[in-house]
Amino acid sequence: LLNLALKLFILQQMDGSRKRVAYYYDAEIGCYHYGRGHPMRPFRITLTHNLICSYGLNERMKIYRPLRATADQMKQFHSDDYIEFLKSKDGMEELVFTKSMHRYNVGDDCPLFNGMFSFCQISAGGSLACAQKITSEEADIVINWGGGLHHARSREASGFCYVNDIVLAILHLLEYYQRVLYIDIDCHHGDGVEEAFYATNRVLTMSFHKFGEFFPGSGDINDIGADEGRYYAVNVPLRDGITDEYYQQLFEPIVHMAVQYFQPNVIVMQCGSDSLSGDRLGVLNLTAKGHGNCVEYVRSLNIPLMLVGGGGYTIKNVARCWTYETALAIGAELDNNLPVHEYIGFYAPDFLLHFAPTNIENRNTCTYLEETRNTILRNLRLMPVAPSVQMEPYRPRRIPHQISIADIVDLEMATSDERMPRTLFFTFMSLIRKCNILQKWTSVIKMAINDSTRIQHNLL
Ligand SMILES: [Zn+2]
Repeated sequence: LLNLALKLFILQQMDGSRKRVAYYYDAEIGCYHYGRGHPMRPFRITLTHNLICSYGLNERMKIYRPLRATADQMKQFHSDDYIEFLKSKDGMEELVFTKSMHRYNVGDDCPLFNGMFSFCQISAGGSLACAQKITSEEADIVINWGGGLHHARSREASGFCYVNDIVLAILHLLEYYQRVLYIDIDCHHGDGVEEAFYATNRVLTMSFHKFGEFFPGSGDINDIGADEGRYYAVNVPLRDGITDEYYQQLFEPIVHMAVQYFQPNVIVMQCGSDSLSGDRLGVLNLTAKGHGNCVEYVRSLNIPLMLVGGGGYTIKNVARCWTYETALAIGAELDNNLPVHEYIGFYAPDFLLHFAPTNIENRNTCTYLEETRNTILRNLRLMPVAPSVQMEPYRPRRIPHQISIADIVDLEMATSDERMPRTLFFTFMSLIRKCNILQKWTSVIKMAINDSTRIQHNLL
């Protein structure tokens, strides 16, 4: 009897750690090119896929090529005219900057490149397919490294992102589930996703990001959501150089409490790898182990999980990180020596999976860490436990075009729950921060003054 009990116990343990993983990849995605010198390189998805296969991980999960997202599917979130514009520009590399390009913020950070719309279709198609796989309950974890383009807005491109595959996927999930938790560990604030769900309690958005003189400028700790969505947006602002250990001390308690209070039916996690050390644009200092620890922690919660990519501009480290995280999803262990394969040359000179942090200064002091954590945990406690919500079809509110000054002032009042006396100047400054256009210009002016090479690429 004891033997049987033991066997049952072991079986149970195994069940908890073994997950059905579905992985989405379209080999064409790596062929698109943003243009010479542009840091966003879709080829990194090919690099990742090849490393994944060279470890044999493809045999331990289901691999699918997703259908491409249609314009109609994209219009579930994006405005019709914006999608029609993207569609009309597919296959064009325009040298002249037209008025419509300006209107949709295309042409600078988000260049027009050959096959731009097809690229968006593959990226968004992968995330939509992931969401469908979760709702049909055919997989416990779904992966689309070609997705995670969190900056795209309903009617404009932003930060290398054109179509917000994450919002589209979450909208599909909301048709089946009451509550979706979104976690974003990219170095940049997940502004596009936060904005889409800022006023609802059905999606809790949580972003860990570098804050202060850094793209996109939003993601203040006091931005906690509005209306029904008040307390359902969580922002964890970080300073330069945060290390694995410090990151973990924020990530685990915050996610733990959010899951306890919110009780999500499904988690969508954006694994942007520009938070790794040595990133071309990022300023944080995580190793693949520290980054992967977040994935491992979220996986251990035993809630259906969707993993998407995002930023990541030192592409050999992007491939290392996402391969490691694919292995974590499956529950496989990887040899630190990379297998010999077609692209092994990219990993010179060490040819190893893991890499060490750099020696940049960690500007997140212990006090800063503790204060940040306490403020966020205090806000999370104000959220009603597992809100039972109406299962009505959800249309995201387009905040920047609808929010009024009255809303902004009201929000300011709501967030200062300590009722700290605020000087007129402080209130004025936070008002400015809230206004997108002004914010863009203050950033531009700041950049002109500082003109540091580091922020050069991150603005606009
Ligand atoms: Zn990023």
